[in-house]
Amino acid sequence: MKTPILGIHHVTAIAGDPQTNVDFYAGVLGLRLIKKTVNFDDPSTYHLYYGDGVGSPGTVMTFFPRARVRRGVLGSGQTSTTTFAVPENSLAYWRQRLEETLVRTADLTRFGAPGLSFADPDGLRLELIESSGPEQNRQPWDGSSVPVEHAIRGFDSVTLLHADSATTERLLVAAMGFRQVAADGQRVRYESGGGGSGAFVDLLHDPNMAPGRVAGGSVHHVAFRVADDDAEAEWQNRLSEAGHPTTEVKDRMYFHSVYFREPGGVLFELATDNPGFATDESVDQLGSELRLPPWIESHRNRIEQVLPSLEDPQRKDTGVAA
Ligand code: ZN
Repeated sequence: MKTPILGIHHVTAIAGDPQTNVDFYAGVLGLRLIKKTVNFDDPSTYHLYYGDGVGSPGTVMTFFPRARVRRGVLGSGQTSTTTFAVPENSLAYWRQRLEETLVRTADLTRFGAPGLSFADPDGLRLELIESSGPEQNRQPWDGSSVPVEHAIRGFDSVTLLHADSATTERLLVAAMGFRQVAADGQRVRYESGGGGSGAFVDLLHDPNMAPGRVAGGSVHHVAFRVADDDAEAEWQNRLSEAGHPTTEVKDRMYFHSVYFREPGGVLFELATDNPGFATDESVDQLGSELRLPPWIESHRNRIEQVLPSLEDPQRKDTGVAA
């Protein structure tokens, strides 16, 4: 029995100053800071997670922020754009909100749907797309200054940029069960699982694009959803048999992950839907304190000395810091 890849689980990017990152994603985009932890592979760096109220898979944008990080270079073999879904008739609101915070926007149309493109403070390329599908019933976070009727509903899609998309297309279709659903010029859209917004991967083919460098303002990896540990083990076998061996399973506390680099150069992850973000703090308290996994907890004192304190603009009244 083949279990499908259910869509995008999370997108992880590299950022500069952590406070600037929180101010933008929680303060301007209105996502909830759902987890404040460290990079398990480098505990001197924060790992900040943003999402809906509970951190549902498919809504989770995460960052490794480090002040004075060097800037990446956009190029072939990268996730060039991360696209969030917003409800219909929301773009005028977002255009004004972003412009008021001095974020320059440009209008776009994506497979018939209107959208906005812009960049975060580190130059990470983002988009908002008005989505009319049933995915719009996803419950948004209602604790930010963005009105609920315009709030981000989670991911719509990611765009992978390649000078040559052929090998990546073969991986998606032949090994990962994606289906081609649309094409527009050099952009070809695929979807997985039940499809629709949140399950789209766009391959953008640009033969003139030189290889990029992943650093500040770049996506580090894209994670796709698998239901549970059994499904993940099944996918490890299938990918290995298809010539794409993954890492061993890594315990990320809130999900279990395997990684592999797709042939075009983008780092892919498969992440389980369970156990979720309320495993080490209550839903009410998500993101309020620095959380460390048990195997790092003994280093808490040293880690807290190294990490800068952070203020969540959505929690200003409580004065919660790291
Ligand atoms: Zn990840």
